[in-house]
Amino acid sequence: FGFKGCQKIRGPQIRSLLEAKDFFLFDCDGVIWHGEKAITGAAKVVSALIRQGKNVVFVTNNCTRPRENYVHKFYRLGFTDVMLEQIFSSSYCSALYLRDVVKVRGQVFVIGCDGLRRELLEAGIPCVEEADDPDATIYNCALAPDVKAVLVGHDDKLTFLKLAKASCYLRDPDCLFLATDNDPWHPLSGGRILPGSGSLTAALEVASGRKATVIGKPSRFMFECISSQFTGLDPAQCLMVGDRLEVDMLFGSNCGLDTMLTLTGVSQIEEAQEYRNSDLTTNHSLVPDYVVDTIADFLPAFEE
Ligand code: PLP
Ligand code: CA
Repeated sequence: FGFKGCQKIRGPQIRSLLEAKDFFLFDCDGVIWHGEKAITGAAKVVSALIRQGKNVVFVTNNCTRPRENYVHKFYRLGFTDVMLEQIFSSSYCSALYLRDVVKVRGQVFVIGCDGLRRELLEAGIPCVEEADDPDATIYNCALAPDVKAVLVGHDDKLTFLKLAKASCYLRDPDCLFLATDNDPWHPLSGGRILPGSGSLTAALEVASGRKATVIGKPSRFMFECISSQFTGLDPAQCLMVGDRLEVDMLFGSNCGLDTMLTLTGVSQIEEAQEYRNSDLTTNHSLVPDYVVDTIADFLPAFEE
């Protein structure tokens, strides 16, 4: 009581947990890989689970590539049995949301990388074309008349003009305000960080006085996308494995899944313990049920 969760597990405990679950959701960066480098043993774990007939899906907040690119990336990093149907990215789920939930009519103004736009176009969602006019400013540029949604994601070519245009479109209360994810930042090597989509969304929230609807983790919508494609999915049979308490563990809690923190990424076990010991009960949704050093700790469980 009061101290549930954060259980560091190994050997036989991992084996019984893997036996008890039949559906595994893996976050990508910090769990499966670091950027372009696979985490040692991760590919073996994924193959072994699939060989045992377990369902495995990947839930990533990285919106910068379409799903096909992820299939290639998995292959390149040694995950040779991962298919398109197993990949749930915040860009793919944003496309599903716009197409199937809000059934957007009109165009979408996208702040994001080309990969995000490509994912939307693939789902048949028209995006505003950005004119490459170096003289365009917010004073003289044309605004599209039929923008029904602004979607914000990670954009490494963000300009003041894009932010300004998005702010103008959001003056219309009928124009939806969506964010692929709300991640604050991402670790890079050498102590550098990459500001995440959340930092751009925050700028637009201030400029518009509105709050964005978040599609990616920790929002439940990603799990609804998975449920709609895997019929009979039972949350009690699922394990969500991630490296970030505020994103992955909260996502799992929001969806009623058991959660596991792996220590190969952003969050440390001490932070999880602090949340667990906190008097603020909302913090308890950030506490993992289980903790492992790395998903490579699963490997002995596959040995006879
Ligand atoms: N978005 C961007 C732009 C990233 O670079 C990353 C991680 O590298 C993420 C999101 C987080 O991805 P994940 O949810 O797989 O940890
Ligand atoms: Ca992660």
